[in-house]
Amino acid sequence: MSAFEGRYPSRYQAITIHNVAKMPEWQRLDPELREAVEVTSRVLPFRTNVYVVQELIDWDRVPEDPMFQLTFPQPGMLDKEDFEAMRDLIRRGASREEMLAKANEIRFKLNPHPAGQMTHNVPELDGHRLWGMQHKYRETVLFFPAQGQTCHAYCTYCFRWAQFVGIQELKFESKQVDMLVEYLRRHKFVTDVLFTGGDPMIMKAKALRQYIEPLLQPGLEHVQNIRIGTKALSYWPQRFVTDDDADEVLRIYEEVVKAGKHLAVMAHFTHPREMSTEIVREAIRRVRDTGAEIRMQAPIVHPINDNPQTWATMWREGVKLGMIPYYMFIERDTGPKNYFEVPLVKAQEIFREAFMQVSGLARTVRGPSMSAWPGKVRVLGTAEIRGEKVIVLDFLQGRNPHWAGRPFFAKYNPEATWLNHLEPAFGQEKFFFEEEEPIVWWEVEKDPFAQEEAAAVPA
Ligand SMILES: *Cc1c(COP(=O)(O)O)cnc(C)c1O
Ligand code: SF4
Repeated sequence: MSAFEGRYPSRYQAITIHNVAKMPEWQRLDPELREAVEVTSRVLPFRTNVYVVQELIDWDRVPEDPMFQLTFPQPGMLDKEDFEAMRDLIRRGASREEMLAKANEIRFKLNPHPAGQMTHNVPELDGHRLWGMQHKYRETVLFFPAQGQTCHAYCTYCFRWAQFVGIQELKFESKQVDMLVEYLRRHKFVTDVLFTGGDPMIMKAKALRQYIEPLLQPGLEHVQNIRIGTKALSYWPQRFVTDDDADEVLRIYEEVVKAGKHLAVMAHFTHPREMSTEIVREAIRRVRDTGAEIRMQAPIVHPINDNPQTWATMWREGVKLGMIPYYMFIERDTGPKNYFEVPLVKAQEIFREAFMQVSGLARTVRGPSMSAWPGKVRVLGTAEIRGEKVIVLDFLQGRNPHWAGRPFFAKYNPEATWLNHLEPAFGQEKFFFEEEEPIVWWEVEKDPFAQEEAAAVPA
């Protein structure tokens, strides 16, 4: 029996608008705030859990508390007008249908399909689309296990909100794993498979095994790295410590490492508080004991973590616990983005001020980075070149591999929050990447240039 049994909630229990009133913590909120959360959650539903509520949120600091902001919808997330319309419907006891109609009307204004979340970059094999996969960058195939499309809690800033509220239909391949394996066999330049979601660690060990084990078989030696994107360490570290199948999960991780592959847990950490409990520290130790590495990533979001101290502390703590800082993201252009957004220039200043404070071991982090249509674009900083104030950017990943690491310049714009708000500097009409056809990796055989790029990866 684990020393952690009984010290932390051990039975996972989701908390939503339907049962939150049973939590004593909820009753401590002032009635106006309770109503505001309830109204907002009709449009953007929340889901949290007992661990988050009892161990991560500091209820003495609510509503400013970052962990509260992270999982409970905030009044400012909706336009004033929409908020009031929804509130009035609730106050006058409108019918479910009426409320749902209003909720959907508001949802559609929130850009539910940013950058083609699930539909773009879906590869084809013999003319058949592989739903549940994406292949945007040469080395890496993204894989969305059908059973991994939810999370132990929902982040209020999540760009997958449209899928959580059910207005974005998800399509999945019925023989998902077979298709993935076949696709990988035919594309030897793919070195990484990234399991994502939702959260793949929501799956039982048995389901997880069905997805991971097939990647260890002969013929897939070129798949060197398996990554799992997850927020389970933050929202439910019990997954690796006290859950019934926690040991089984760790055995799967060990098998990947024993098969000679690198297993990277891409851990979503938004705030250092998430690393502070004893059980998350035990979870980190146990995951690392399997030979897996843990890399940390999160978006920069107002007001949860948009200050240098929060990031510097998170990177320092993370490194101390044996994790590797990886990405700081810019929040995507969807959902209640206006509420959370941090301008690119400001985000870069925060990044730099945090970066300055930490040792080289934490400077493995890169960002702030936008996952935009042409690729992952990093804001490197601002400069003045021949009298023109500019923003300097580069690609961390591009649809064309040779876009990476090449600085380019945009007109200075302190308000811009996304790539499409930027214009080329120095009187240029277009950015360099707008003048090239992006490579479509699953059609590599049709494109001699793409073949050359693919051949650059040793099989
Ligand atoms: C971030 C990302 C990857 C992984 O990129 P790395 O630079 O290798 O971490 C792969 N595919 C997509 C679509 C991504 O957004
Ligand atoms: S953990 Fe990731 S997928 Fe899940 S709600 Fe948060 S941002 Fe969305």
